[in-house]
Amino acid sequence: MKKIEKVNKSVFFKPLDIAFYAIISILIIVLLCVFLIPKNENTLEKIEIYKGNEVIYTYDYNLLQGNIEKLPSETLIEEYDENNCHYVKIITEESYNLVEIGSNYALMKDANCSHYAPCVNNFSAIKKDGDIIVCMPHQIKIVGVGNKQNSNEVRI
Ligand SMILES: [Zn+2]
Repeated sequence: MKKIEKVNKSVFFKPLDIAFYAIISILIIVLLCVFLIPKNENTLEKIEIYKGNEVIYTYDYNLLQGNIEKLPSETLIEEYDENNCHYVKIITEESYNLVEIGSNYALMKDANCSHYAPCVNNFSAIKKDGDIIVCMPHQIKIVGVGNKQNSNEVRI
């Protein structure tokens, strides 16, 4: 700070000095971006899948492992891995929802709730705490759970 003040006060500062401080400023901005953006994207700690008000499935990003919590009657969960993604298919007699869980996101990949399937086409991927995808006809809800302190810092 002192150095910058001196430069600003000096009448005879050289163009090279300006260039030097401009480069330092740009470097600082670039470094801030590099460190802040990955933090923002990597705040997901868990994915919770609800059926009605019950959590039926959770995926833990620290363990890289999913867990079936509580399965309602006549509901099946199938899991498989493909192309570095974990897939969770929630199946009942007439309905299915396919959830894709990637390294830092989750989304509704497929569902047969309607011809247009709003849960697949209208929602963007879950990437941070509080993000949500809802399938109203099937009462399925996907919720992102993350580091609340980090995501608040970034939002401010
Ligand atoms: Zn749906």
